[in-house]
Amino acid sequence: MIKYNLICRHDHEFEAWFSKGSDFDDQKKGGLLLCPICGDVEIDKAIMAPAVSTSRKKEAAAQKHKAALSMMNAAADKIRKEIADKCEDVGDKFADEARAIHYGEKEERAIYGSASPRQAAELQDEGIAVAPLPDAFVPKADKKLN
Ligand SMILES: [Zn+2]
Repeated sequence: MIKYNLICRHDHEFEAWFSKGSDFDDQKKGGLLLCPICGDVEIDKAIMAPAVSTSRKKEAAAQKHKAALSMMNAAADKIRKEIADKCEDVGDKFADEARAIHYGEKEERAIYGSASPRQAAELQDEGIAVAPLPDAFVPKADKKLN
């Protein structure tokens, strides 16, 4: 026995069982296939909905993912540029510079650079505002230092 999902011209879908595949064609030709809802004799095999929607869903998800990724990249690019434009790269002297600025020994300005976890913890203990910079936001010039 074979089960087919069938559909009439009015989009009524229904299932029908056949003893073999050619029975569908034979019965259709003989006008023996009727839509149980409207009695239409123009019956066709319906495209299996789950298979279609799965591939469409996958495609849509992939598209969405791609769009989100390029949006994130664009945002990261913008932030990277902002940081490169407005902040001074002090490299591995970050902790010293941040401290000097905090205590008024150096001109107040935005800086970025690298600090060890210990240095970062010390700065925080001293109440110096620092924040870790996600890799994606580190201006590219800074990466040459590492
Ligand atoms: Zn129908």
